Amino acid sequence: MSEKKQKLTEISELGEFGLIDHITKDIKIKHSSTLKGVGDDAAVIDHGKTCSVVTTDLLVEGIHFNLIYMPLKHLGYKAVVVNLSDVYAMNATPKQITVSIAISGKFAVEHVEQIYEGIKLACDTYNVDLIGGDTSSSFTGLAISVTAIGEAKKEEIAYRNTAKPNDIVCVTGNLGSAYMGLQLLEREKEIFSSNPSAQPSLEGYDYILQRQLKPEARKDIIEFFATNKIKPTSMIDISDGLSSEVLHICNKSNVGCKIFQDKIPIDGETSQMAEEFKIEPLIAALNGGEDYELLFTIDMNDLDKVKDHELIHPIGHIADKKHGAVLITTAGQSIPLQAQGWNQMKSK
Ligand code: ADP
Ligand code: MG
Repeated sequence: MSEKKQKLTEISELGEFGLIDHITKDIKIKHSSTLKGVGDDAAVIDHGKTCSVVTTDLLVEGIHFNLIYMPLKHLGYKAVVVNLSDVYAMNATPKQITVSIAISGKFAVEHVEQIYEGIKLACDTYNVDLIGGDTSSSFTGLAISVTAIGEAKKEEIAYRNTAKPNDIVCVTGNLGSAYMGLQLLEREKEIFSSNPSAQPSLEGYDYILQRQLKPEARKDIIEFFATNKIKPTSMIDISDGLSSEVLHICNKSNVGCKIFQDKIPIDGETSQMAEEFKIEPLIAALNGGEDYELLFTIDMNDLDKVKDHELIHPIGHIADKKHGAVLITTAGQSIPLQAQGWNQMKSK
């Protein structure tokens, strides 16, 4: 590299999303079959009768997972599920995956077998075929990259950029639990490393631990949409915290929104753990990560079709862009939503 005198830009100046924008902004699509390139949960390829959606996620040891508390089987399962979540976020059905792994010298065949037990279990649970991949050695640790391919009819596909004013904003399940599970695991790791004979106290927190270690993707909700002929006007999966994903929908759709604090679903175990950590449960829901729930908007006239579903929670509505994307607190204050999320590359 000729770096003489040229001032280099720190990646932290751009952050993850800034870097992606920077490296992809001049890409020109060459094929009319490329319906959607960079910028959504998955790319969309038009084959005439049906479309394929394609998405990739890379998990790196020490960044996305810690093998001190992450069982290898769970890791394999999670690596698949996080990709399927992006396929469902397009309102598509996942059909195939490829898996690439880089393995360092500390791993034995039996370890890789355990990862693949998890991968195969996810394939069976979600009815997808493992059709290939790549295998490499690594100096520094384990990395797993999964690519998922899904199928949908063109008119069924839900994008991030098609929300419109007055649409109802909904989330599935509950938020912040995987983040609180991670906090608990990190705390017990500290205790364990300072006193190896100490037993981790994880009892009573099965739900938040499961949400962190063995998350599920929202296959059920996509099936519910299909059965009830519901088409979300926009959709994204929640991997980086509610704030960040709401802002993706608002920015891409050129709209604002009002989200009501008292409507945001937070599980009891999550609140309890947040209290122990002196964290506002709301902060875990807004800025925690890895919920793998769906955030979607629907036309006001479709609200009746979803409002009785126990897992679907209306949390606000889309507004004109000039109103901004705001959270209305229980006290009635209006606060601009901020994307903090998992922007791991950004300084501060
Ligand atoms: P998600 O959180 O849904 O997985 P990301 O935030 O990882 O989405 O990615 C946002 C968009 O940027 C996606 O369309 C993704 O395909 C694209 N993208 C991410 N990294 C790269 C890269 N290195 N080169 C090209 N496109 C990328
Ligand atoms: Mg996504």
